[in-house]
Amino acid sequence: MTTLCVRQVRTRAVQAPLEYTLKTSTGVIATVPLVLIDLETDAGITGRSYVFTYMPLALKAVQVLVDELGTTLVGKPVEPVNLDAEFESRLRLLGRGGLVIMACSGLDMALWDALALHQDVPLATLLGGSPRPVPVYDSHGLDGLELGPLRARRAVEAGFRAIKTKMGYATLAQDLEVLRALRQAVGSDVHIMVDYNQGLSVPEAERRIRALAQEGVTWVEEPTIQENLAGHARLRGLGAPIQMGENWCGPGDMQRALQAGACDFAMPDVMKIGGVTGWMRAAALAQGAGVPMSSHIFPEISAHLLAVTPTAHWLERMDLAGPVLAQPLRCVDGCAVSADVPGSGVAWNEDAVRAYQVN
Ligand SMILES: [Mg+2]
Repeated sequence: MTTLCVRQVRTRAVQAPLEYTLKTSTGVIATVPLVLIDLETDAGITGRSYVFTYMPLALKAVQVLVDELGTTLVGKPVEPVNLDAEFESRLRLLGRGGLVIMACSGLDMALWDALALHQDVPLATLLGGSPRPVPVYDSHGLDGLELGPLRARRAVEAGFRAIKTKMGYATLAQDLEVLRALRQAVGSDVHIMVDYNQGLSVPEAERRIRALAQEGVTWVEEPTIQENLAGHARLRGLGAPIQMGENWCGPGDMQRALQAGACDFAMPDVMKIGGVTGWMRAAALAQGAGVPMSSHIFPEISAHLLAVTPTAHWLERMDLAGPVLAQPLRCVDGCAVSADVPGSGVAWNEDAVRAYQVN
């Protein structure tokens, strides 16, 4: 087989609409700023991925980073592991955290997609496994007492057996009131995960987790500042498992968190952990530590990755890119089911992209 080489990397910035405005304990997301990546190869195959910049103010900067890093790939073989090593060396002084790792990961995901398309197999198959149904939860915001139970009921009606809610109302009493309303809406058999988005001090987190544990939550996510590994470690063993990982930049961050005993569960984000390449290394760390590993957003590609993750746990369904995708991920009977197509399943709805494109 001839070597597949990168011909060009094209990007487009979009602001996609959200079905429900996403409220968290630390801010509101009203539209979804995404950089769409098309990595063209000399075989006429185009690898695709997207990165989510969290806030519109970072959209342009991330797009420029992807463009500039993409230029360095032109003419090179589509070998994501080797190109990851090249980025590692090239970016050593700048550092591979923050926006830089997001851009690198986006390119890595597009490279792997191109490889899978070239081999005409789904990404999970290229990685040595095969697509399989992955348990999925529907991920909600800080939705309060009206929208919260409504969304929870809709999720259960749609076949979900697990939901996640953002938490961090002004008082513990309000947290408990919302949690109990959600429990009433979904019944006793449905998992409820709780996410504080780093919103609490350690003592306040301890007080709230002790109370939430009595309500039977499946996990408590990022109760305090994510860099505070010792703080997270102190919050374990209170009756509710501690979940974190969406802000780990590269497998090294994950290794430090595991070493500090910061969490019971891990949920790396494919865009921050280093793309497919970084994810596979993170999966090995989770396996070694015996830690169940879930995904964070990016449901389409994460469904393939969890299918080959030894300690695969839950896939998060938060449909951020759905409006610009040709085929959003399907969820059936509580499981995510990858489309039976080659690649990662990321392809654009071009009409939608045109409608939401800002750059
Ligand atoms: Mg979270």
